[in-house]
Amino acid sequence: MAVNEFELLADAEVRASAYLKAVNTRCVYPDEKAIEALSQFEEALPQTGHGPTECLALLDDAGSPATVASNGPRYFGYVVGASLPVAAAADRLIATWDQSGDTPAAAVIEKIAARWVLDILDLPGGSAVGFGTSATACGLSCIAAARRALLKRQGWDLDENGLVGAPRLKVVVSERIHVVVLKALRVLGFGKKDILTAPTNDYGAVDPARLPPLDDKTILCLQAGEVNTGEFDPFNEILPVAAAAGAWVHIDGAFGLWARATSKHKHLTAGIELADSWTTDGHKWLNTPYDCAMAICRDADALAETMNSDAVYATASKDAQRNLTLEFSRKARGILIWAALRSLGRSGVASLIEGHISQAAKAAAALKKAGFTVLNRVVLNQVLIACEDDNVTRQVQAAVERSGEAWFGLTRWNDRIAFRLSICSWRTTDKDISRLTDVIIKARDDARS
Ligand SMILES: *Cc1c(COP(=O)(O)O)cnc(C)c1O
Repeated sequence: MAVNEFELLADAEVRASAYLKAVNTRCVYPDEKAIEALSQFEEALPQTGHGPTECLALLDDAGSPATVASNGPRYFGYVVGASLPVAAAADRLIATWDQSGDTPAAAVIEKIAARWVLDILDLPGGSAVGFGTSATACGLSCIAAARRALLKRQGWDLDENGLVGAPRLKVVVSERIHVVVLKALRVLGFGKKDILTAPTNDYGAVDPARLPPLDDKTILCLQAGEVNTGEFDPFNEILPVAAAAGAWVHIDGAFGLWARATSKHKHLTAGIELADSWTTDGHKWLNTPYDCAMAICRDADALAETMNSDAVYATASKDAQRNLTLEFSRKARGILIWAALRSLGRSGVASLIEGHISQAAKAAAALKKAGFTVLNRVVLNQVLIACEDDNVTRQVQAAVERSGEAWFGLTRWNDRIAFRLSICSWRTTDKDISRLTDVIIKARDDARS
């Protein structure tokens, strides 16, 4: 069947533009009708293919209305950023290149993106930066490098001998560590018995006074930006102790690491540069499209040797992305980071981050004034809100979801149910913050009456 490739792509662009034009005004969460219409996809695998234009039409007509407007201005769930137009456009272009990351263009641009990432996050020059799919995958890569490097220092060649009989390592994690770090540890073969927790204070940051003992067989996992509260562990106090003990420190900074890109909030991360590895996302606060994240490792060889995809007899090139990430064939997703950083510049990134932090403070102040309890110190872009009791909190979240005005999810903080507002979309204006707080207040008042 002859298909005009250009007409099809133009059709996709028209549909994408229509979606984006409505993203400010549509219901943030799809209504029941839109969700029911997904039944149109329930068909058997066709024997002969349908026309590409018709496939695209079904995808858009039945699929688009049942999406959640996370690319819009009033989606405050998880820590999901929208997509910067330049990064989304670059994504469209590199999709048409359809090539794996080791071509001349991709290799050069990703190398520059890596350098810029270290520059803007003020992390040690010469660190390896692997552009992987997620903070989950990148965290796994970093922890795998940590294990291999610590065992090597113990005289154990992991590649040769495997894990059986290896010196036993222990892992110390923040009591509030994100679940994906625990997943990475489990996938890597660490058992619950290998993992100790570092107790946190009332705010959600690790309490240095209660840190379990560290040694040169310890991987310590800390956080820049706890997912509920946005809190930072006290790196300045802990990292020198960890370094003296010979432990490897890994930082999960999926969103919080970007506080380093602003002179105003960088102090929250003081001392973080002493760690051995860091992960952060592009698809959260930097507002690139999915899937886009970074594994950053001070000892570039440690990451390259661990993730080596070159022939076993070759030394791993630490410049090649296939040796820094889980993927072998891969999209050159570092180009999305390059596009975001080049178009925003240092000052643009700083104002994006600072803007969200001040919007979070505004939302918290408005809700506090209206009688809600703000459960966290609002140090970053995360706001944790509770109503007078858990039932009302649940009712308010459901009512806001139904209203289509905004969306955020529920979480548990200590013994209370709370809603968590994450402010991280470039599209969110101060007016959107007022609309958010207004709809929350109205839902609470309705629930009371
Ligand atoms: C979102 C998040 C992750 C997981 O990131 P993915 O890119 O979704 O894998 C890990 N840690 C923290 C603190 C997060 O907020």
